[in-house]
This record gives sequence, structure tokens and C-alpha cells, in this order.
Amino acid sequence: MIAENLKRLRDKINAQCAASGRRAEEIKLIAVSKYFGIEAINEANKLGITDFGENKAQELRDKFELLGNKVNWHFIGTLQRNKAKYVVKAASLIHSVDSISLADEINKQAAKNDKVQDILLEIKTSFEETKAGLNQEEQIIKLVEHCKTLSNINLMGLMTMAPYTDDEKLIRKSFSELRKLKDKINQQGINLIELSMGMTSDFEIAIDEGATMLRIGSAIFGKRDYAKDWRMI
Ligand SMILES: *Cc1c(COP(=O)(O)O)cnc(C)c1O
Repeated sequence: MIAENLKRLRDKINAQCAASGRRAEEIKLIAVSKYFGIEAINEANKLGITDFGENKAQELRDKFELLGNKVNWHFIGTLQRNKAKYVVKAASLIHSVDSISLADEINKQAAKNDKVQDILLEIKTSFEETKAGLNQEEQIIKLVEHCKTLSNINLMGLMTMAPYTDDEKLIRKSFSELRKLKDKINQQGINLIELSMGMTSDFEIAIDEGATMLRIGSAIFGKRDYAKDWRMI
């Protein structure tokens, strides 16, 4: 099933790239494997997927113990400071940094692990209270400036989740806001390159608005069963 799903998804990504005047090679596909087991990850890996996304620190820690650096791990969930140590050990990219104190903790853990941790800032571009991330421009600029002072952190770009809605206009607005914010930050002599945006339901709009990383789960692995532990799948 994963093979068929991936083929269908890659066809859609290629078609959207063609329609949007983008090159498919500019866009990294991150397979969001949360709630899915090692077997599914290995299967997708054999089909050419090298990057996997997880949203819980312990789940990432445990999967990393089993698979190590055979694949690139992305952390895309809300991160509590006391769990940063697990995530820094495993993640090639942390998408969800949203405060100075979290950036400081990641920097500290990265130094301990003798690495420079690549990160993105999570931005709240929708107006939903339930969504995580930063939404005050002043705060965002402050955090960008702060990251520059941390020697074990490398800030590469921005991440967002679109609002949960069928209204394409609102989704597009959310993604274009992220792109504009990146351009604005870059006018201040900073060089952000990545825009992590687009999931199963909205990746086509994200490609059109300039995404460089797509985080896609269910279109690859099928529906998640939230009642099951990933070890049991
Ligand atoms: C689960 C998740 C995704 C993937 O969602 P799908 O709808 O399954 O593609 C993307 N981004 C984040 C932050 C997630 O938590």
C-alpha cells in the first residue's frame, strides 16, 4: 500500500510543481511516521524516502534507538525543554522552535552532543488559538537575532501549519504569510532558506506558495490509529 500511495503522491507533487513553475528537486518530502512502526518506516525508506517526521520526543528517541542514522529524523511537534535532550540526539532538523528559552536549551544540548543543531522557527500564521507557534513579528525578529548568538544552533528557516479549514483562501494566506515573513527577515541580512509547510490536505497550495519541505503522513502511510501504540503496528 505504501508503494502505491507514494507513487500517487509523487505524481501529484510533480504535477503541482509543473503547474507552479517549480522544480521537484527543490522540495524535500518528509514522511510523517508518527503512530507508525519500524516496518512502515523501513518500507518507505526502501522506496526512496530518506526523511521522516515525528512529533513526540519519546517516540523519536525510541525509534532512533532502533534505526539510528539510517534515515534523517525531523522533529515537528511541540517540544518541552526537558525533552530537548532526546530530540537533539536524534534530529537532523527541529521544525518547532518557538521561544528563546527552548532555543537556549537546544543550544546547550547540542553543545553536549558536539553538534550544530539545524532548526526552524514555528510560526502561527493562522488565527487559531489552538495552534502552536509565534505570531508577533517583534517577538519573531528577537528570536531570530537571539539564534544568531548561539553557536550550536543553525537557523535555516520557518515552519507553519495552515488553519484547519476547507477554505482554500485562508490556507493560501497562511502559507503566503510565511513566505513573506521569510523574505522580510532576509532583508535584514539573514539568510533563511527553508519553508516547511504543507501536509496531506494542503500540500499543493504549499508548493504553489513556495514550500521547500512538505510534511506528509496519511497520504503515504494511510490513516493513523490514535488508539494504537506504534510498537503494536
Ligand atoms: C501529523 C503532522 C503532519 C502530517 O499530517 P498528515 O495530514 O497526515 O499529512 C504534518 N505536520 C505536523 C506538525 C504534524 O503533526
